[in-house]
Amino acid sequence: MKTQTLRSADQKCLYCGGTGYYQLLLGGTETCAHCNGTGKQPEQETED
Ligand SMILES: [Zn+2]
Repeated sequence: MKTQTLRSADQKCLYCGGTGYYQLLLGGTETCAHCNGTGKQPEQETED
């Protein structure tokens, strides 16, 4: 029986690429609404 360890380090937000915000064409940045600026995938169980 093998044990699998889930890694959370690679779970970048696919929408903003892990930066937490979008680069706007007109200048400036906008916080990524998908991850709320965390840059991580929100659809994941939270660990403490
Ligand atoms: Zn994001």
